[in-house]
Amino acid sequence: MRTTFSFIFSLLIYLNLTAQKNNTTLKITPLCKDAFVFITYNEYKGNMVPANGMYIVTNTGVVMLDSPWDTLQFQPLLDSIEKRHNQKVVLCIATHFHDDRTAGLEYYRMKGAKTYTSKQTYDLCKEKNEKQAEFYFTKDTLFTVGDKTFQTFYPGEGHTKDNIVIWLEKEKIIYGGCFVKSTESKDLGNLNDANPGEWKHSIKKVMKQFPKANYVIPGHFDWKNKNSLKHTLKLVEKHLEKQK
Ligand SMILES: [Zn+2]
Repeated sequence: MRTTFSFIFSLLIYLNLTAQKNNTTLKITPLCKDAFVFITYNEYKGNMVPANGMYIVTNTGVVMLDSPWDTLQFQPLLDSIEKRHNQKVVLCIATHFHDDRTAGLEYYRMKGAKTYTSKQTYDLCKEKNEKQAEFYFTKDTLFTVGDKTFQTFYPGEGHTKDNIVIWLEKEKIIYGGCFVKSTESKDLGNLNDANPGEWKHSIKKVMKQFPKANYVIPGHFDWKNKNSLKHTLKLVEKHLEKQK
């Protein structure tokens, strides 16, 4: 009896995942003229969960912020970019060591992109057996690629101890990665490597540092509501309250 139940249960999960997988490949949404969000999906606790990454089109190549989570979409993303913008990806930066950010680092390095993370992320990738970038930076860094500039900012620990955000001054975009929770998120998600006590302070630092953002892009789910920093702070505070 138990076997039948667990068989039916497994079958239901399988069917549910198959149904979900059919429309969970690669989605690309323009944010402003030269900045695009891409979404790929992966299985997490029996559901297909979307992950956001971003790319910026410059006049000398495309910059990718985080790699797709779905390894099957590494090449389709390059193909779409090439078709849409007639450009190659020249630089790829991952914002913390988890595989929803770093999975494609090696692949894109092989395809000719310069791959970067912070030194902290670089070391954690090695320690945790995640794909590693070729290069690292040791402090907040201003990158200039063609006609675009953007800067990395380490706010302190949060979702992980190495999480960074990326600020595009001209476009007024905070690319938050998993450090920022979408207003659609009802909880803090994967807390295995998180430091909620510090997250609270780190979030406030980002709010203070970049107060006038037009867009705030979280690691997962929707970004149309701009209050995701405030929402993240609220979730962190709720979590800390429960811990008391
Ligand atoms: Zn994530």
